[in-house]
Amino acid sequence: MGLSKEQVARYSRQLILPEIGVQGQQQLLASSALVIGAGGLGSPVALYLAAAGVGTIGIIDADAVSLSNLHRQVLHTTGAVGEPKSRSAKARLEALNPEIIVTPLQERVTAANALALFSNYDVIVDGSDNFPTRYLANDACVLSGKPLIHGGVVHFGGQVLTVVPREGACYRCVFPEPPEAGAVPNCQEAGVFGAAAGVIGTLMANEVIKVLLALGRPLVNRLLVFEGLAGHFREVSVRRNPECAVCGDNPTIREVVSLESIVCTTGQEAPWPGNK
Ligand SMILES: [Zn+2]
Repeated sequence: MGLSKEQVARYSRQLILPEIGVQGQQQLLASSALVIGAGGLGSPVALYLAAAGVGTIGIIDADAVSLSNLHRQVLHTTGAVGEPKSRSAKARLEALNPEIIVTPLQERVTAANALALFSNYDVIVDGSDNFPTRYLANDACVLSGKPLIHGGVVHFGGQVLTVVPREGACYRCVFPEPPEAGAVPNCQEAGVFGAAAGVIGTLMANEVIKVLLALGRPLVNRLLVFEGLAGHFREVSVRRNPECAVCGDNPTIREVVSLESIVCTTGQEAPWPGNK
């Protein structure tokens, strides 16, 4: 099946990239991604995936758009304040690219729904703003063998890691335990720079498309850290931890468990490995 005239026009500037071409474009149109969180990270991820023609995009977010979201959550507009984020996201993404399917899910990822939900998608993108969801997404991806793109942002910087189960480190290999409740400030307490969320979210979209098309070198075993005020990136080598509770040699986590007892916090963990 070829591309329509309109598709050739819409995707022309990426079709001429030899790494993508018609075959890569068809592959993208046949691919699916689940974006967890339609917030500061989920916004750029979803916009770039929709624009690139990833054929099916699921957006899961239980919250409504608020005015304080808009400086970084570029999916949403002032007119969408009060609307469910998943619905606002669907409208915006379909306006950008009407030929893709956007599935809005106005709920949270839970231990009960994660595996069934993830089974519908080729890649999972974690743009969540809290540790329980982050660990849950990691564990569910490891247990089901799904690639996961992790991102986190706080203040002026952030980090990205691509998890390909059994090929490299998972999030838990790098950060074995969630920080104690209150140890890491959330977005509301710490503040976040909108453009930093844009940088990290865009890198996440870049990783998604690389994984979907098996292009280049994904950030497997490489935690990419962005320091926005200094204006530089650092790469921290990480590796699978044989003692990891979920992907180690003798895993203790064999099913998706909830971490709801942990107070929701946002952003990057301290200390990052290799932090100077
Ligand atoms: Zn692991």
